[in-house]
Amino acid sequence: MMSEIPITCHFCFETFHALLEIGGDFSGMITEIYDCEVCCNPNKLSIVVSDGSISSIQADSGNE
Ligand SMILES: [Zn+2]
Repeated sequence: MMSEIPITCHFCFETFHALLEIGGDFSGMITEIYDCEVCCNPNKLSIVVSDGSISSIQADSGNE
């Protein structure tokens, strides 16, 4: 299922949305880089999924 996830940007603290495909019974961690729609900086998202639903989202700098 495609989910639109609200992300608070690590750099400018504006909210943007990341589109993510999550399987209905998926459990685990997804790590993806998404560019902020407001300031274009790369956010490294660590998304913890439990049985297809998101239990936590962390945004860090994607500049490494
Ligand atoms: Zn931003």
